[in-house]
Amino acid sequence: MASKVYFIPVGPADNIYVINAKIKRLLKESSLFDFIQEEYKVAVKIHFGEEGNTGFVNPAHAAVICEAIASRGGKAFLSDANTLYRGRRLNSKDHLAVAYEHGFTREAVGVELIIPDDNSVADKIEIPINQEFIKTAKVARIFIDADALVAVSHFKGHILTGFGGAIKNIGMGCATRDGKLAQHCDVSPVVHLDKCIGCAECARICPVKAIRIEKKKSVIDKTKCIGCASCMAVCPTMAMFIDFAAGDKTQSKMAEYSLAVLKDKKNRSAFINFALKINKECDCWGADNPRIAPDVGILAALDPVSIDKASLDLVNKASGKDIFKATHPDQDGIKQLEYAQSIGLGSLDYELIEL
Ligand code: SF4
Ligand code: SF4
Repeated sequence: MASKVYFIPVGPADNIYVINAKIKRLLKESSLFDFIQEEYKVAVKIHFGEEGNTGFVNPAHAAVICEAIASRGGKAFLSDANTLYRGRRLNSKDHLAVAYEHGFTREAVGVELIIPDDNSVADKIEIPINQEFIKTAKVARIFIDADALVAVSHFKGHILTGFGGAIKNIGMGCATRDGKLAQHCDVSPVVHLDKCIGCAECARICPVKAIRIEKKKSVIDKTKCIGCASCMAVCPTMAMFIDFAAGDKTQSKMAEYSLAVLKDKKNRSAFINFALKINKECDCWGADNPRIAPDVGILAALDPVSIDKASLDLVNKASGKDIFKATHPDQDGIKQLEYAQSIGLGSLDYELIEL
């Protein structure tokens, strides 16, 4: 059965106040938060943006969403799990500092920010799911313990998964560092020596020092590599390749992790995608990166697969082509959605209700 996806367009002339008014209308007319009950603890899963990257959802928009949750009697808090890579979101203290620097202060968003700590056993939980690739998912407990989950996702491109939206935000974003590693571990690049010029850019960017230069060629220590693909992104000669079947596997694992996070959230989860500031790469990059598509608008749904499919279709339509395939030709992001549907996470069929 087709899931309903509500959509409100956002144009270049819309300032922050207009967009906030549109979010209020979207939430009201979609009745998105009708499932929220008095005193529900509601985890709002968001990406606070890596230092130097401005692709993240504006804190003023997060504030409007938290207000709408409060109007239903819910107790919202904003949260994200720590990252696997280099950067300041590797640990909870610095992650919180970056969030504040990006404007996600309590005064601005009206709710508490909580970053679970990977070094605390109490902050982690293992969820048995017995799927094809993941038998037990390693997830930040805060998302599981919450009564409800609202995923606020920035829709954009991604080097390993073609694009990232709700499923990436939940599956990868709610995982502990161990869980993120489990999703990336098959993606160790291969160096095509004929193309490698020995510039060492890859060695400089590698967060785990898995690359050394020998005889003016890059050599990857696969026992150290965490499959982050940062080296691929910086290589000036495109000498780094990954096994794209491994990229597909990452997409499948991400969908399985989403299943784990949402396992006990039936009728207690909602998804909001911001198809604005659509970057080539995800918000984890420590620098801004090119916008690849025009702003499209904001979507709301109760189905993570439908909302990502609708976002994908709208962005591609606005771009006049499959912009994610054009930008990342070796990745086919639709696979994460097809696989997600096959494991019962949601439906590729949707009814778009434009406001
Ligand atoms: S960045 Fe590319 S060209 Fe430079 S050393 Fe690494 S693999 Fe070789
Ligand atoms: S993918 Fe590249 S940058 Fe990332 S850990 Fe492996 S070798 Fe290092």
